[in-house]
This record gives sequence, C-alpha cells and structure tokens, in this order.
Amino acid sequence: LNRRLAEFGTTIFAEMSALAVRTGAINLGQGFPDTDGPEEVREAAVRALRAGHGNQYPPGPGVPELRTAITGHQQRRYGLAYDPDTEVLVTAGATEAIAASLLALLEPGDEVIALEPYYDSYAACIAMAGATRVPVTLRPDTSAGTYRLDLDELRAAVTRRTRLLLINTPHNPTGTVLSREELHAIAELAREHDLLVVTDEVYEHLVFEGEHLPLAGFPGMRDRTVTISSAGKTFSYTGWKIGWVTGSAELVTAVRSAKQYLTYVSGGPLQYAVAEALRLPDSFYEELRADLRAKRDLLCTGLAEAGFAVYRPAGTYFVTTDIRPLDATGDGIAFCRALPERCGVVAVPNAVFYDHRDQGAPFVRFTFCKRTDVLEEAVTRLKQL
Ligand code: PMP
Ligand code: GLN
Repeated sequence: LNRRLAEFGTTIFAEMSALAVRTGAINLGQGFPDTDGPEEVREAAVRALRAGHGNQYPPGPGVPELRTAITGHQQRRYGLAYDPDTEVLVTAGATEAIAASLLALLEPGDEVIALEPYYDSYAACIAMAGATRVPVTLRPDTSAGTYRLDLDELRAAVTRRTRLLLINTPHNPTGTVLSREELHAIAELAREHDLLVVTDEVYEHLVFEGEHLPLAGFPGMRDRTVTISSAGKTFSYTGWKIGWVTGSAELVTAVRSAKQYLTYVSGGPLQYAVAEALRLPDSFYEELRADLRAKRDLLCTGLAEAGFAVYRPAGTYFVTTDIRPLDATGDGIAFCRALPERCGVVAVPNAVFYDHRDQGAPFVRFTFCKRTDVLEEAVTRLKQL
C-alpha cells in the first residue's frame, strides 16, 4: 500500500458490520436501512432489466431519463436550473462523486477545508489527490445537545493554498443541518477567496428540524459549487450505488474527466428506476421524514434512558452520543469494540472521523434507519449496560 493510503486501513463501516455478523449483534453501526425502499421503484428496475434498458453500457454522463429527472428535482425542490445535457453527471454512488470531484479539481499541495468529524472517504480521497486536509472541528454544545460550526475558526483556516471547501449538510455523523446564516457565511468566504465548493448533500431529504438549503442556491455559488446527492439515502437502496453531481458545465466536465477513468459508467437499468423514483410525489418524502423522525425520537429517548448524553440530530439517520456518563475512560473506540459482547449492539466510534482524535474520543454514533422493533430491542439491550 502506498504512503498516501497507508494511514487509512480498513473503513470502520466494514470493520463494524463484520463484527455485527460475527457476534450476531444488532447493527446500528453502518447506515443502511433494513427495509427496502418503494416497491414501485424496485418494479421499475425489473421492468428496465426485462426491456433491456441499460443492460449495455449507458452513456457516460448517465441515461437522459435520469439526468432530466435530476434537473427536474433540483428545479422543483430548490428553484435551481441545470442543463441535463451539460450540468449533470450520474456516478457510482455519492462515493464516486466525491472521489471524482476531488481528483478532478485538486492539484497536489492544495488545501481542502472539511468539517470535522467527516465522512471517512473525504480524507482518503483528498490524500489520493495528493492534497492536504485542513479540518475545522464542529463543536459540541453540551447544554443544547447539538453541534455548531464556529465561523471564525472556519475563516481562520483559509490560507493562500486553500483551493476548496468540502461541506456536508445534513452532516454525518453529527446530524447537524447548517443554517441559512452559516451557509451565507460559507458562501461569502468562498466568494471572497475565490474557492471551489464541493457539497455533499446526500441527506437532503432527511431533515426533521429546519430545512435543507443547497449551498449552490446562495448568491455567486452556482458556478463554483459541485453538489452531490445519492439515491441510496433518499430511496433506501444503498446497494444500487446511483449517485449524481450537479454544477456548472465547466465543473461537471472536469468531474466527468476523472469519473470516466474510475468506473466509466455503472448501474444501467437502475438508472431508469431512479429516474422514476425522483418523480415520486411530495407525499413520499413527507412519509420518509415522518417515519425517520419517529425513529429518531425513539432511539434518542432510549439512549438517554440508557445513560448516554445524546446530541439530538436535526437531520440524517444518525445520532451521536457521549459515552462518558456510562464509561469514565471516554474511549469510544474501545467502547464500540466491546459493545457487541457486552450487550449485543454495534455502533461506530466518531473518533475515526477526526484528525484531532482527542476531540472525538468519547463520541459514538448509532443509526436509526432500522425497523421499530429492532430499535426497541436495541434500546432494551443498551439499558442493561
Ligand atoms: N456521503 C455521506 C456523508 C454519506 O454518509 C454517505 C453514505 N454512505 C456517502 C457519501 C456515500 O453515499 P453512496 O452510498 O451513495 O456512495
Ligand atoms: N454512509 C454510511 C454510514 O455512514 C455507510 C458508508 C459505507 O459503508 N461506506 O454509515
């Protein structure tokens, strides 16, 4: 393994899911639903397969049906206009979108500012691009039970070498949804220093308080912002790996230059199904949100009763907790490694999402995208700690 990747080892999601399988524990670690998404979307995939739609290489940017559905969604939902022929790119999940964007837009030695804790592929992809990550730590506000972005710290992180801001809202793992004011400040900073922005908005529909605002919608941002989303989260088909990028033709062309040598294309028939999924009525999104909100409340209440300090998420399907009321050592990694044996539940230590590991040490993430009976059983077990 080369020096760029040596520090990363095995992703925590693979490690913790393997632990869940080995111990038979309830897996609240890796974020994937235990119930499939809409039946009609699955049926659309079967129809596409049978009709031979997408069984051979689809077009490089994605099938036109899906590109049009994506631009339609951005227009309808956010009033953002993109040209389906030049300003959209379908990718192998958001994961490839992140990789291709960073590989395409960064020069070796460039600095990338990312909100810490961050989704683990960010650090690895920045490293693969030969660039340097500059983490800005989201600060836990213990009394409010939320995280917040310190805008002064963000401003102070910009140097002559800063090329790109890598933003994630709603934010994994803290569940933070950046506010209009925070996004305004980020946009201002990007304009002032002429920075590019890559914004990972895969949880755009999973918001329980406030609303999701796309960074690309702020003044002067459309043409400097690459926006990423994914069908995995919105339609509960994480195994399909259909993601996408929207942005100016110039930026999307750049991302495509990298993407064509990573996977070239993927998921032919599934692209047609996701095109149909994106046309589901608003009621679909409302039901998804209501279902997950109830699950969030169930798990947050249960975790608090079990003795964890809970950071209540405004979005995503993750809740971050502080283990210190239960475990004075505050070592979240050791806690997560022992948890399956102790009580039959798997969680993920947030420390692995930090460069400043000490900042993340006592925090542990649980997902609530599971059936209600599964969450209830997990809470029962956690109360035995
Ligand atoms: N970004 C974030 C913040 C995520 O949580 C995930 C979830 N896996 C991804 C990107 C990757 O999405 P996909 O499964 O579509 O590759
Ligand atoms: N995004 C999911 C999570 O954060 C899973 C990602 C993965 O397995 N690579 O849990």
